[in-house]
Amino acid sequence: MAKDAQQHRMEKIVSLCKRRGFVFQSSEIYGGLNGFWDYGPMGVELKRNLKDYWWRRMVHEREDMVGMDGSIIMNRAVWRASGHEETFSDPMVDCKTCKSRHRADQLPRKDDVPYCPNCGGRDLTEPRAFNLMFKSHAGPVETDENLVYLRPETAQAMFVQFKNILETSRKKLPFGIAQIGKAFRNEINPRNYTFRSREFEQMEVEYFCRAEDGLALTDYWLEERLKFYEDIGIPRAKIRINDIPDGERAFYSKKTYDLEYDFPFGVSELEGIAYRTDYDLSKHMEHSGKPLEYFDEEKKEKFVPHVVEPSAGVDRTTLALLCEAFDEEEVTDDKGQKEVRTVLRFHPRMAPVKCGVFPLLKNKPALVEKARAIAVALRPHMMTFYDEAGAIGRRYRRQDEIGTPFCVTVDFDTIGENGPEKQDTVTLRHRDSMQQERIPVTELRAHLEAAIF
Ligand code: ATP
Repeated sequence: MAKDAQQHRMEKIVSLCKRRGFVFQSSEIYGGLNGFWDYGPMGVELKRNLKDYWWRRMVHEREDMVGMDGSIIMNRAVWRASGHEETFSDPMVDCKTCKSRHRADQLPRKDDVPYCPNCGGRDLTEPRAFNLMFKSHAGPVETDENLVYLRPETAQAMFVQFKNILETSRKKLPFGIAQIGKAFRNEINPRNYTFRSREFEQMEVEYFCRAEDGLALTDYWLEERLKFYEDIGIPRAKIRINDIPDGERAFYSKKTYDLEYDFPFGVSELEGIAYRTDYDLSKHMEHSGKPLEYFDEEKKEKFVPHVVEPSAGVDRTTLALLCEAFDEEEVTDDKGQKEVRTVLRFHPRMAPVKCGVFPLLKNKPALVEKARAIAVALRPHMMTFYDEAGAIGRRYRRQDEIGTPFCVTVDFDTIGENGPEKQDTVTLRHRDSMQQERIPVTELRAHLEAAIF
């Protein structure tokens, strides 16, 4: 698709996200805050479905994984040991003309000369390192001793708690720790909607193993993660695997794959899968003076485990789900009029609302009562939306726009007005095909659960 068309598509997605309650600007009534976003009623469901499914796949369905939930603020010593205090920075330049600040490696260029994207000026300072960690103070005194950082990644808690988790879970190598949580980076130029934010969520695994298994396990995790994306509705063909060459990886990493998605604004990173060797545990051993080795009972060997880290972004994956799902198609309505149908074709397990339930008419108490009873019965099992306002076609369109895979309509057949054969059956309408089928109310729940599991 041409660049303009892609930009237009992105604008439509952003506008739908606001209109339908997926994403709002943080602090909007005060003019917003650059790099911060709020998820509305639909966005929070989408994000929660993603996180819950990741947790199910990474933790509940596996014998070799356990979870944890670490604090956002940790002892500053953690960030000294990990190298973040020293090196977690991006190169920054100032424009001397308009005083704006930019990431040196993302500046636009003309005739190979970088220029300021704000005013076009070419009078830029030399790049200097800007540390991306947000600072605060723990306690009432703002001294250097009390300085703390908001974590820029969730990973470090899993290294720092390695020994406690090993001892309490009694896992044997290879095994992993999984965590989902907020991370904060004071990005110089937040951009591309929620893609590069200053506050975001990560879903990370630290998978500990023997040194000799590290490379093979990196390839194993690449395959696992590709399967995961497929199972949430992002096909392999849409993901580019970037095998980071020697010299471009972090110096301690023996292999790194970046998984990139074809966003409307360009192919960009969704997840990194890095074989980090024994770098992290060794650094924490060195700095804390505490032993973090693993003891193999059978072989009577003591060693520092190596680690493979699949690190994914919740917000970036949520955005990829929205971009992948967004579709517009021309349809013909009952009166033969052509119109554009906007539809989010989410995988049913990711869709914020699983089922819409409607009475055909809102002024017929028997229909309303029956429809409400069906909604009440479904609610404990899946996110269900009851709607009686407007023509039935309009109600379907509203559900299409938020990606609801199924809609159920209660009509006169349901309440037995057209004979006993169709009594207690409803119309089940499918979002993608718009096909309708008749299904007994008693089978509804099992039918829907099979599709959304
Ligand atoms: P980038 O190069 O895009 O800045 P990164 O390589 O620094 O990303 P990692 O440190 O590998 O990112 O972080 C792991 C994951 O966390 C990323 O793949 C991404 O999904 C997510 N992530 C990182 N930074 C941000 C951000 N500023 N906003 C949203 N998600 C982020």
